[in-house]
Amino acid sequence: MKIHLKAGRERSLLRRHPWVFSGAIDKIYGSPVSGDTVQVRASDGRFLAWAAWSPQSQIRARVWSFEEPDLPGSELLRGRIEQALALRRALGLQEATGHDSTRALRLVHGEADRLPGFIVDRYGDTLVAQVLSAGIERWRDLLADTLLEQTGCARIYERSDADVRELEGLPARTGAMRGDAPAVPLEIVEHGLRYAVDVVGGQKTGFYLDQRDNRRRIRELAAGRDVLNCFCYTGGFSLAALAGGAQSVASVDSSGPALALARRSVQTNGFDALRTEWIEADVFRYLRDARSQGRSFDLVVLDPPKFAPTEKHAPAAARAYKDINLNALKLLRPGGLLATFSCSGGVSADLFQKIVAGAAADAAASATLLERFHAAPDHPVLLEFPEGEYLKGLLLRRN
Ligand code: SAH
Repeated sequence: MKIHLKAGRERSLLRRHPWVFSGAIDKIYGSPVSGDTVQVRASDGRFLAWAAWSPQSQIRARVWSFEEPDLPGSELLRGRIEQALALRRALGLQEATGHDSTRALRLVHGEADRLPGFIVDRYGDTLVAQVLSAGIERWRDLLADTLLEQTGCARIYERSDADVRELEGLPARTGAMRGDAPAVPLEIVEHGLRYAVDVVGGQKTGFYLDQRDNRRRIRELAAGRDVLNCFCYTGGFSLAALAGGAQSVASVDSSGPALALARRSVQTNGFDALRTEWIEADVFRYLRDARSQGRSFDLVVLDPPKFAPTEKHAPAAARAYKDINLNALKLLRPGGLLATFSCSGGVSADLFQKIVAGAAADAAASATLLERFHAAPDHPVLLEFPEGEYLKGLLLRRN
C-alpha cells in the first residue's frame, strides 16, 4: 500500500521529520487500515519513507524508516529497542540512577527513539508502557516481548489511558501486559532519595522522570530556605528540597492521592514531617490566598501540567503561565529563587521566557535569569523533530 504526497509536501520528510499530516496527502493506493505499513512517495513517485497509517488522526502517518530496504517488521523494531537501551547505557544512565532493583529511567521516548507514539519507563524490574499510536498498537506484542527479553524485567504494565489515544481512534487500555501486577506503590531511588510510585493509579506512567536532574539542582539550592513547591504531585521537588536542608517546605497539589504518596515518602526517607506542609488546593487560588495571608518564601517551584498541548492552545496557556508566575514572584523575598517550568509542546522556550518576563514586569519585579532547565537525557530530542523538546524551565533570582 502506498500514498503519494502533494507536490512540495515532501520537504519535511526529506529533512527526516517523522510525521505526515492529512493535508499533505494527494493519493492513496490500496485501502490501508489503522496500523498498516504504507510507503510514502513524493508527487514524482520517489520513495520517501515507510510509515504507519493512522486513519483517524490529523497526523495520518508516522514514519518507521526513511530507508527503502528497512521494511518495518520484527527485525527493525527489535533493532530500535536495542538502540534505545544502548543510548541510555552509553549515557551512563543505567548505572547513574541508583541501585539495580530501584533504578528508574525512561527507556523509550517515542519519536526520539524512532518508535513514534511509544513510551516506556522503567521502575526497578517493572516496565510501564504507553501505546499512543496506531502503528505501535499493531506491533504491541512483539514490542512487549522484545522489551522483556532485552531488559530482563519481570513485568510490563500498560498505561495506555492518555487522551491522545482518542485522537488515534484507539480505546483506552490499562492492565498487566506481561507478568504479574506491580506492587502499589512501588519504590524507586532517585539520586539517593526514595520515592513511592503508583504506576497503576498515578499520573502518566506514575512518576515524572523528566525532572530527575532538575530535582537534584533544587536540592543543591534549597539549604536554609523556606520553599514553596506548587503542583508538587508525589513530592518530587519537595523531597529534594528537604534533602538539601530546606528550612521548611510547603507543597500544593489538587490531587489528594498524590499528596498521600508524598507524605509517605517523607517518612520513608526519615525527614522531619514538622518541616513540611501539604496543601490540597488549586494553585491559582492558593498563590492569591498565600499573599493575602502575608506569606513569603525564599524558593518557589512552579511545575504545572501541560497548559498547551499544541500551538493552538498557546494564547490561553500564556495567560495561565503569566498568572502563576506573576503571583509566585510576588511571594518571593528579595534574593529569592523561582524555578519555573513549562511542559507544553505548544509553547516554545522563547515564548515561555517572554511570558515570564511579562509576569515579572507586571509584578514590578526585577529578576535575573540564572539557569535554564531541560528534560533529563533519557528524554532525548531529535534535531529534526523539535516538537520533542517539550520541557523547559528557568531559574530566576528576584532582585
Ligand atoms: N513536579 C512534579 C510533577 C508535576 S505534574 C514532580 O516532580 O513529580 C503536575 C501536577 O499538577 C499534578 O500532580 C496535578 O495533580 C497538579 N495540578 C494540575 N492542575 C492543578 C491546579 N490547578 N492546582 C493544583 N495542582 C494542579
